[in-house]
Amino acid sequence: MGEFDLIERFFKRPARRNALGVGDDCALLAPAAGMQLAVSSDMLVEGRHFLPAVDPARLGHKALAVNLSDLAACGAQPLAFTLALSLPQADEAWLAPFARGLFALAEAHECELVGGDTTRGPLNICITVFGEVPAGQALLRSGARAGDDLYVSGSLGDARLALEVSRGALSVPADALERARARLDLPTPRVALGQALRGLATACIDVSDGLLGDLRHVLRASAVGAAIDAGACLALMDCAVQLDPDTRLEWVLAGGDDYELLFTAAADRRQQVEAAARAAGTRVTRIGRIEAAPGLRLFDATGHRIARQFASFDHFA
Ligand code: ADP
Ligand code: MG
Repeated sequence: MGEFDLIERFFKRPARRNALGVGDDCALLAPAAGMQLAVSSDMLVEGRHFLPAVDPARLGHKALAVNLSDLAACGAQPLAFTLALSLPQADEAWLAPFARGLFALAEAHECELVGGDTTRGPLNICITVFGEVPAGQALLRSGARAGDDLYVSGSLGDARLALEVSRGALSVPADALERARARLDLPTPRVALGQALRGLATACIDVSDGLLGDLRHVLRASAVGAAIDAGACLALMDCAVQLDPDTRLEWVLAGGDDYELLFTAAADRRQQVEAAARAAGTRVTRIGRIEAAPGLRLFDATGHRIARQFASFDHFA
């Protein structure tokens, strides 16, 4: 199978919403009048972001999911994506399930694959997504204000649990592991919630490197600080396995690979936030508040300050 057969067989689908898809020198997108394009890229590298043994269907899902999560964080509606793929060989047994996992999520969000690049090399998957958002309404990191509530969607820490089990750091019952693995391999991008938060959230980011690390980006961009209720955060881990409390707190606050939305909203809009979460079918939890004094302060369930430091993921640290 040559390069062009491979593209034709696995990645070419008729263009629907977008003006021109795979097959010409450029794809053509047609964003609606009054909308801005929201664009983001994320790369998945074998050995760095995933292990060689991972199920290709799950990898196809995850490669797109992490990109859709960025659109969600901006409150954008997915439109299209491109796929730059470097592969050691044209292996049908890998490509077919990879494409299946990828297109299942793409179709669920009506996000079309409109182009890309295919080369031989170490396994590396780079997706660029394009979304649209009404001009001036994208959710940014810079809008948090003192007095705002701080919220996070869904659950935190379960992906890290699955990662630690695969590293051999601990073992957990099979059903708990299956659920944790699904959180690691099949993250659900919070696309509907992101859009429901337009005009409501004052700042938003997706949690990919760990809650506290990603929160620091919001605090810096907004020139504010935050007080976090660690007790409320502890309850955010879904898998009810026995863990010592320090480890649980570490995985919830700095686990990584969660792909939830972390956002702020004015304290007098709690009912609207609840309604947005219900409409999007995604749970949200209030975990703290924004304060004028810079920095991040963590409190335990009894209101005592926690002094411990948590490092977030950094490829070059
Ligand atoms: P060019 O030579 O113009 O760079 P290519 O020969 O690399 O184009 O690709 C041919 C067509 O196939 C282009 O429309 C390109 O966008 C598309 N394409 C290439 N690789 C992929 C891929 N992995 N997924 C989707 N479309 C792809
Ligand atoms: Mg060309």
